[in-house]
Amino acid sequence: MNTSEKKIVGEIHGCIVCAKLYNILVVYTPEGKLLDCTVTSPGGHIVPDERRPLVACDIHSEEEIEPAHKRAQSTNTEEQEDD
Ligand SMILES: [Zn+2]
Repeated sequence: MNTSEKKIVGEIHGCIVCAKLYNILVVYTPEGKLLDCTVTSPGGHIVPDERRPLVACDIHSEEEIEPAHKRAQSTNTEEQEDD
C-alpha cells in the first residue's frame, strides 16, 4: 500500500525543441522525486525523463526531440526556463 502523500503541482514548461509553453501537472513523492507528469495543454506530450518533467509539441519528430532531450539533460537548470 502506498499511503505516503504525493504532491501534485501545476507547472509551466517550455517545449524542449521550440520552447513553446505548456501547462503540465507533475506528481512528486513526499521526498520531491519526480513520479509522474502529464501535459494538460493541447498539442504537447511528455518526453520521458527520470529526473524532471520535459515536454515537446506533438508536431516534432523523434529526430528533433532526441537531440533536444540530450541537450536538456546536460543543462541542469532547476527553475523553469523563461523564454
Ligand atoms: Zn515545440
